[in-house]
Amino acid sequence: MVDLNKAEPISWLNGKLVAPAQAMVSVFDHGLLYGDGVFEGIRFYHGKAFRLLAHLERLRLSARAIALEIPYTTEALTQAVLDVIAAAPSANGYIRLVVTRGVGPLGIDPSRCKSPQVFIIADALHMVSERVRTEGAKVIIAATRRLGADGLDPRIKSLNYLNHILARMEATHAGADEAILLNSGGRIAEGSADNIFIVKKGELFTPPVIEGALDGITRQAVLELAEKLGIKAREIPLAPYDLFTADECFLTGTGAELIPVGYADGRAMPQCPGPVYQRLAAAFKELVAIESAE
Ligand code: PMP
Repeated sequence: MVDLNKAEPISWLNGKLVAPAQAMVSVFDHGLLYGDGVFEGIRFYHGKAFRLLAHLERLRLSARAIALEIPYTTEALTQAVLDVIAAAPSANGYIRLVVTRGVGPLGIDPSRCKSPQVFIIADALHMVSERVRTEGAKVIIAATRRLGADGLDPRIKSLNYLNHILARMEATHAGADEAILLNSGGRIAEGSADNIFIVKKGELFTPPVIEGALDGITRQAVLELAEKLGIKAREIPLAPYDLFTADECFLTGTGAELIPVGYADGRAMPQCPGPVYQRLAAAFKELVAIESAE
């Protein structure tokens, strides 16, 4: 039985709400052994998941791309997420929805993994400090590169985050908050767990997904908001030079929402938080409030 006094994070495993201590997968699960699986990070506000259908659609596409069959319909997963939110300790938080390849014999061949495992965890968010939100993040350009579409398509949100983790370690080691990963061509791909936007002369730029960015739900929301606000936005390849010479820069993600960037490899951003960031961050807040009330 789940303790609805709700002190602990809530878990859902293969169809049932379970106490965290019972939320276990096997050490023979290929998700654990090989990073063979896909996932989503979903935010909920006022008891409502933000853009849940978009997340479930991306999950389904990620799974299809790796020939992993999710043993639940979108309707069933929607209900599961709603159940987890209803049981969560707070009306605001973060959900991790994971589908692993499941248990199979050792060896990477997934063909004998017969039961994909699905679990959903809700927890509070501890991702971004107040200092970063107000003063801006310090970012570095990591030596670790983003895997290209010729290695692992960036649209697949897979359980393989090791190069992102290595990039984040570089940032921590350098005393920075976040790492920006370049693609194999040396152009900007994205942050270790967020998408990147720069502003130049009032115009917004972000790398196209094909440059090595996840097709972020928050990125998409920001592009929609820019259009509504009459801010010209373009998806074009960006070099480190474009970051270093930007007027403003900010990061977007489910956990991050919108975070201004204060320094890029030691170069101060002229405007942080800049006016375009501020308009978009306010519009995003409004969007969340509107969509949470629907
Ligand atoms: N890129 C990466 C590598 C991420 O892990 C995330 C977080 N899911 C993002 C970008 C931002 O995507 P979203 O806005 O959908 O959270």
